[in-house]
Amino acid sequence: MLVLRNLIGGRWREAAETREVLNPSDPATPVGRFFVATPEDVEDAVSAARTALPGWASAPAAARGTVLAKAAAELRARADELGRILSDEEDKTLPEGVGEVRRAADILDFYAQEAYRPTGELLGSSRPGVEVEVRHHPIGVVGVITPWNFPIAIPAWKVAPALAYGNAVVLKPAEQAPASAWHLADVLHRAGVPDGVLNLTIGPGSTVGSAMAEHEGIDGVTFTGSTPVGKLLAGRLAARLAKVQLELGGKNALVVLDDADLDTAVECALQGAYGSTGQRCTASSRLVVARGIHDRFVEALAARLRSLRLGAATDPEAFYGPVASGAQLEQDLGYLQVGEAEGATALVRGQAWGEGGPRVLGPTLFVGGRNDMRIAQEEIFGPVAVVIEVEGLDEALSVVNDSQYGLVASVVTRSLAAADRFKREAQVGMSMVNLPTAGQEFHAPFGGAKASSYGPREQGRAAREFFTQSRTSYVKAK
Ligand code: NAP
Repeated sequence: MLVLRNLIGGRWREAAETREVLNPSDPATPVGRFFVATPEDVEDAVSAARTALPGWASAPAAARGTVLAKAAAELRARADELGRILSDEEDKTLPEGVGEVRRAADILDFYAQEAYRPTGELLGSSRPGVEVEVRHHPIGVVGVITPWNFPIAIPAWKVAPALAYGNAVVLKPAEQAPASAWHLADVLHRAGVPDGVLNLTIGPGSTVGSAMAEHEGIDGVTFTGSTPVGKLLAGRLAARLAKVQLELGGKNALVVLDDADLDTAVECALQGAYGSTGQRCTASSRLVVARGIHDRFVEALAARLRSLRLGAATDPEAFYGPVASGAQLEQDLGYLQVGEAEGATALVRGQAWGEGGPRVLGPTLFVGGRNDMRIAQEEIFGPVAVVIEVEGLDEALSVVNDSQYGLVASVVTRSLAAADRFKREAQVGMSMVNLPTAGQEFHAPFGGAKASSYGPREQGRAAREFFTQSRTSYVKAK
């Protein structure tokens, strides 16, 4: 059984209390046990990070890049083993778990190269003999707070750029699935990240996460999680003028227009709405379908859903795995009742099975939905989608935009003009054409509009905006 200690100042530290890391599919066989960090551990982690920061910030790019590349190589070599642990603690299917570890390796490799990229620019001046120089410096000590649904990829896409650009880090993963993040920290530590540059404090958001938000020694916090917690953090960080980056919830729409290729539309809905058990911020839980294709689309999607093979995370043939926790399952089932009470019809209604073992929930497809229903406005985070019938693109766009969220939206169409208008008018951070709402790539900017995101974009080169601060110098040679 894994024993997960916290990493503070380069040493693995125990704590008075331990908790189990559960395997939701097999509660009798925990994945491991972790020592619950305390606010005092956060205090020590921040102090260690501040001590280590100047050395790391001024280390040659090669030193930072080499460490990240070495860690990437180990993650890739151990993808099967670590993917299994991820799959056990989060209940993702094994191929998804292994795939996520490989993705984390790719992200580390990307930022290993990024460490070498130019860190500034030279501008001309209106005055003779003067040059204007812009340099990007690390922001300092960064707090990283992550959710359970991508337990290694999200820590990787925050920690890697933080380190590449010369920051020191205190990482707090979700208590529900901390083993993958622990392995990421372990691999980076052994790859040569200097003591104190990367610290890991596993503990509840209400104590450890809160202490990070309040700590004056943390210069900025990057957070992925729910919108209510994000808002709380933003208020606290703004109050002490710390930098903040939030990636939050979504209620993403897939629009299917009359001229859509039916197979593409069904595949996009299947992957986008139900892939990863719907437990993705990018899930397309609203299917906004034009009248002319509505009946054919709904019938074809329902047929696919009825024939899906689902099962335990270990089942290599399962399209998606179990729901990640009892609380999440209750939430999903609750929304099935809400949808029916609101007057939507469950054309396919998911049944839950697997008491005491993998808690699988079949897919639900609501038809006859309206965009003002709770099932169309609130993030469910399960294998549940609602179809909203519309006249055409005009009405589809107003439905897409009638949401507090704005992470991603997708359109299925053969019309270049419709696709172009959709990209310009959908109020989202990312749009897709003839592709599912999920499936973003790590080298491109990631983030949303409205209540889905706050602060600079993540991933790709865009990450530099949050993890560095520019300094402008005006220089006259003599
Ligand atoms: P969550 O409940 O907001 O938790 C996220 C993290 O915040 C966890 O580490 C949690 O710690 C911590 N936390 C909770 N309360 C806190 C507080 N008062 N102060 C500081 N930290 C606190 O979200 P979740 O249920 O783990 O994740 C699901 C949500 O994440 C969904 O809304 C989903 O859409 C969103 N998400 C967004 C993206 C994106 O990129 N936009 C990607 C993935 C997921 P503990 O849980 O350990 O207590």
